[in-house]
Amino acid sequence: MTTFQAPKGTYDLIPPESATYLAVREAISAPLQRAGYGYIETPGFESVELFSRGVGESTDIVTKEMYTLTTKGGDELALRPEGTASVLRAALENNLHRVGNLPVKLWYSGSYYRYERPQAGRYRHFSQVGAEAIGAEDPALDAELIILAVDAYRSLGLRDFRLLLNSLGDKECRPVYRAALQDFLRGLELDEDTRARIEINPLRVLDDKREAVQKQLAGAPMMRDHLCEACKAYHEQVRDLLSAAGVAYEDDPKLVRGLDYYTRTTFEFVHDGLGSQSAVGGGGRYDGLSEMIGGPALPSVGWALGVDRTVLALKAEGVELELPSATQVFAVPLGEEARRALFGVVTELRRAGVATDFAYGGKGLKNAMKSANRSGARYALVAGERDLAEGVVQLKDLETGEQSPVALDRIVEELRAKAR
Ligand code: ATP
Ligand code: MG
Repeated sequence: MTTFQAPKGTYDLIPPESATYLAVREAISAPLQRAGYGYIETPGFESVELFSRGVGESTDIVTKEMYTLTTKGGDELALRPEGTASVLRAALENNLHRVGNLPVKLWYSGSYYRYERPQAGRYRHFSQVGAEAIGAEDPALDAELIILAVDAYRSLGLRDFRLLLNSLGDKECRPVYRAALQDFLRGLELDEDTRARIEINPLRVLDDKREAVQKQLAGAPMMRDHLCEACKAYHEQVRDLLSAAGVAYEDDPKLVRGLDYYTRTTFEFVHDGLGSQSAVGGGGRYDGLSEMIGGPALPSVGWALGVDRTVLALKAEGVELELPSATQVFAVPLGEEARRALFGVVTELRRAGVATDFAYGGKGLKNAMKSANRSGARYALVAGERDLAEGVVQLKDLETGEQSPVALDRIVEELRAKAR
């Protein structure tokens, strides 16, 4: 018989580590939910064209990383490589920008797919929690999103992350800068691919990770020296609001990010314990995206945080999340009659809100107690025929080892009080 393995670049989330993933997703979304963001879920695949228009023809995501397929009906689809284009598509399609007050604030959580070269922290299937605020141009909104991400990381106990901040200008000043940058780049010694990139998306060349390229970029013109007055003032306000909220940032004039649609505020969170896959999250303002996918002008801002890399960052810092034990009480019956009686108690305990498990499979006492210890439960309930005849069960505190009989009709009450 063949056995199967998870596809290259993917991995399974299994207990007990999977509990950390769930907790990370919750910790990232909790600040959003307290700030008026509503939950949105979109399909795992979309029309290829949504991404080629919405993410950008010249991006790595669209040119190299998309999983595309032709359906039996002839539709060209792609597994979603990112969330923003889908969320905006859904907001437009469902007229959220018409029925509600602007901005429309949405958060999401899900799986994303990119055909990448798998390495530590870089997978072909990964998980993001994201947020988008659609339809308002207000520096406080950019600041709000950044602060919510910082608060999420802090609530997890992360310390070694940094916020990199830049402005990419707008449709007034960006084209002027773009031309100046192109002039500069055309004079450099670059390979053919990179030369082609100068003509399609020159800002992306700044993002080149190769040292030989970075060296030549030393004297490159920077967007921050070309910002128009409006963009400069906007960026100043974002920075002031962040500082007032106690959020530290580093100006990174070369931060351009991989997606074509960003304007003005652009940011990335990096973690210093992750080696080369250091970006744990990123985002920015995308004032032109709605029009690029056929909608009205809707200036917007958003971010996506990587769940996988956030979990790796927790590991790198040695942070152990305080997760409630999955099982609080473990029941161990001795004999057939006790099995029936204790199973009833287990059901009652669960209905009373106490996380309870049971020694299944007819194990002997020794093995059953091992399972009880392994389950992480604080209490074991043990009962044999003699206990039942006396109308009691033995309640054992697995931490102290103390054991005492408790009346069967009192046990749910007692454990509910203890488990609280
Ligand atoms: P990178 O520069 O590492 O390729 P990116 O700019 O492509 O990141 P985004 O598209 O901004 O990443 O996605 C936001 C976050 O999602 C990233 O900061 C990262 O934490 C996570 N992420 C992106 N691609 C992957 C991947 N292939 N595997 C795991 N996490 C990923
Ligand atoms: Mg990438």
